[in-house]
Amino acid sequence: MNIKNKGTDLLVSSFGDVLNKKYDLVILPWGATEPHNLHLPYLTDCILSHSIAVDAAKIAKDHFGVNSMVMPPITLGAQNPGQRELSFCIHARYETQKAILTDIVSSLHIQRINKLVIINGHGGNCFKNMIRDLSIDYPDFLIATSEWYTVLPAKQYFDTPGDHADEVETSVMMHYYPELVNLKNAGKGKYKSFALESLREKVAWIPRNWQKVSEDTGIGDPALSTAEKGKCFANVIADKYAQLFAELSRIEETGIYEKENDK
Ligand SMILES: [Zn+2]
Repeated sequence: MNIKNKGTDLLVSSFGDVLNKKYDLVILPWGATEPHNLHLPYLTDCILSHSIAVDAAKIAKDHFGVNSMVMPPITLGAQNPGQRELSFCIHARYETQKAILTDIVSSLHIQRINKLVIINGHGGNCFKNMIRDLSIDYPDFLIATSEWYTVLPAKQYFDTPGDHADEVETSVMMHYYPELVNLKNAGKGKYKSFALESLREKVAWIPRNWQKVSEDTGIGDPALSTAEKGKCFANVIADKYAQLFAELSRIEETGIYEKENDK
């Protein structure tokens, strides 16, 4: 935890740090509480989305003069069957997540902050329909959502990117918190595909039973992870988010959509 980010990261900020400051937008990292192979912490999705958000908020401040506040990460994620039976894995229902998001939006709305960016770190989370509902209830409040790990093509940065506790998540964790990674203990992240060809071809989606798919909860081999790869990936994503924050902070002047004569 870096206390240099007072006024940008709510984990380390006091009321004195934010008093009399106007905030352009709020960033909400959203993760999960779940096993991540044998070598990464349960809160990996929270820690990574929060760390990238804090980096992005700092760049947005330094390069574009944007004041944003990164909220503490939400630890409640949606889990697949077979994962939620494992020790300390917590499944949060759609209704629970929607109630959390609604309470955050209604609180910020009273405080006259009307822009929120969700930085999601957990593949099981899906916010689009909640955001559609909230855009009806709070028409003057903008919510954007992004999954940090899909912003860039992982194949260009990693040798064997997978899905969960893989080379991507492990490398990015090694960049931010190497002391939290125990790569020696890591399982191989071997996983089984569906027997049904249509499901393999993604003609339709069903939740995978995690224990039938993976032995160590990992999907993707983390063996080739390095902090350097994680740094390259995380830094470019943070730059992209900083630009997003800057653009969102100016929509009152620029608008969100092209104007007729832009075409
Ligand atoms: Zn994860």
